[in-house]
Amino acid sequence: MNLSRFPRRQYTPFATPVEKLERLSAALGGPTIYIKRDDLLGLAAGGNKTRKLEFLMGDALAQGADTVITCGAVQSNHARLTLAASIVEGMRCHLVLEQRVPNSYNKKAGGNNFLYELMDAEGIHVVEGGTDLMAKMAEVAEDLRAQGRKPYIIPGGGSNEIGSLGYVACAQELMQQLFEMNLKIDNIVLTSGSTGTHAGTLTGIIGMNGQIPITGIGINRKNDRQIPAVYDLSARTAAKLGLANPPRMEDVTVFEDYIGGGYSLPTPGMVEAVKLLARTEAILLDPVYTGKTMDGLIDLVRKGYFKDCENILFLHTGGSTTLFHYYSDILP
Ligand SMILES: *Cc1c(COP(=O)(O)O)cnc(C)c1O
Repeated sequence: MNLSRFPRRQYTPFATPVEKLERLSAALGGPTIYIKRDDLLGLAAGGNKTRKLEFLMGDALAQGADTVITCGAVQSNHARLTLAASIVEGMRCHLVLEQRVPNSYNKKAGGNNFLYELMDAEGIHVVEGGTDLMAKMAEVAEDLRAQGRKPYIIPGGGSNEIGSLGYVACAQELMQQLFEMNLKIDNIVLTSGSTGTHAGTLTGIIGMNGQIPITGIGINRKNDRQIPAVYDLSARTAAKLGLANPPRMEDVTVFEDYIGGGYSLPTPGMVEAVKLLARTEAILLDPVYTGKTMDGLIDLVRKGYFKDCENILFLHTGGSTTLFHYYSDILP
């Protein structure tokens, strides 16, 4: 795979660390757990969207755009990082924010919302849950074009075949690190949300014949919709790369048991996972994505899904800016 043939910006001047979680592994008493610290990626407060934006902003600049439009939930890490990338590229940014929980938008809220205000997004367009976000972004783009601007639309989570190249690149980076560390990883556990992370990593690992299974943990949609969505984006990413051996449907593994009541709604397992990582490793997870994903990893360890002799890698995709928003859910 030759990723250098796609336009790309660079927002992280190093490979994110791979670390052994000795105390967590001892506390769980099963396989050895490693972590890849994508919470330390570049742009304001880091997280997985930074990798996707390297390719998405590269494409936007190649197309001569001067304004970026994207969408997300009211506390979206993706919206925060798209705004940050726009700033460093000298572009304007419009955010379409969906109130997936009714009346959840508050201009004065903390977390990522505070950062939208601090970094001064040019436009914030709040819509009700269930709104057609692509249609709304097209409408915002039309208004901007009428003013002589050149808008570029990034889909939710940056999850199209351009954004997912960021996680193909992560897979390449990881394989090189594992070689240098002389470390054999038997399974990679990651969040399966808008699918760019899962699809990109899967396509990258399979594209390199890495032979490491990927275990996705759902945080939003049930498997009847999530698995085909991951497969579909994997197939499109593989086609963009011209891979002879694209991922198959049976390569897509997702567990749907850790979603709880729905997207962003706290679960007891998430609370336990967030506390355990903070107290054993001083690593901050987030309540919406990585907390639920670590809940899944812990539960799968307890159920014996992994062998004790195995090395499991948890991909930390970031998100801790929303943690500060959940005091009473985590420590009631
Ligand atoms: C967006 C996000 C995810 C999910 O990644 P997808 O590519 O959307 O599946 C996981 N963790 C954090 C912190 C995120 O912001």
